[in-house]
Amino acid sequence: MRYDIITLFPDMLQGPLEASILKRAQAAGQVEVHIHNMRDSATDHHKTVDDTPYGGGAGMVLKVDIMDACLKAVLAEPEVAAIAPERRRIILLTPQGKRFRQGVARHIAERYDQITLICGHYEGFDERIRSLVDAELSIGDFVLTGGELPALVVVDAVTRLLPSVIREESPEEESFSLTAETGETLLEYPQYTRPPVFNGQAVPEVLLSGHHAEIKKWRLEQARMKTRRVAEQGDDETI
Ligand code: SAM
Repeated sequence: MRYDIITLFPDMLQGPLEASILKRAQAAGQVEVHIHNMRDSATDHHKTVDDTPYGGGAGMVLKVDIMDACLKAVLAEPEVAAIAPERRRIILLTPQGKRFRQGVARHIAERYDQITLICGHYEGFDERIRSLVDAELSIGDFVLTGGELPALVVVDAVTRLLPSVIREESPEEESFSLTAETGETLLEYPQYTRPPVFNGQAVPEVLLSGHHAEIKKWRLEQARMKTRRVAEQGDDETI
């Protein structure tokens, strides 16, 4: 999988890409991440990438002509151009987009070999940028300063689902995945490790029993209970 990320703040992306599974996946050649500074596509002396909004209002808006030039430069890179168009996607990160969920991550991991992620910043982007992209994704109903963190969220969630990376994780057993036997989409069951007792809280007896069928049954029940409990929280916004 190749990711191309268009941003005005490349530094915001570096740290997470240089740690843990994302670092290993790149070192192993399972994924490539290419970062493009939109400012490099600006043509004027001041390297202008944004402007004030028509009609007035606060903030600056990313320019469509510069984004278009930047996208064309990404798509013209030989390794990108060599990928079949139906195996590529251009994705705009915006709080107004389709909600990014595990199923969307799975779809991207299975269907595409290259995705271009566009990070907005400031007040947002010229509406016509929407005409340059294949899809719009939101990572949740909140507003961040820029699309860099959402881009990293997408890269992280998709990478760990790639067949070549999957062996190091166990995504088929975790939250939001279908349990093979029952076809339900559940949150993951509770996990425990040593010590056996902490602050008076003991590890459930069944997990120490060595009885695999009982453990499996208990885990399914617990996963159902957890899923129900979280669903019951509904839209309550207090924590
Ligand atoms: N004015 C815009 C609005 O009300 O929809 C929000 C702009 S936000 C401050 C700047 C950029 O951050 C957006 O263009 C988008 O790329 C990114 N962003 C912020 N929140 C996001 C979210 N929840 N999901 C995806 N991208 C987000």
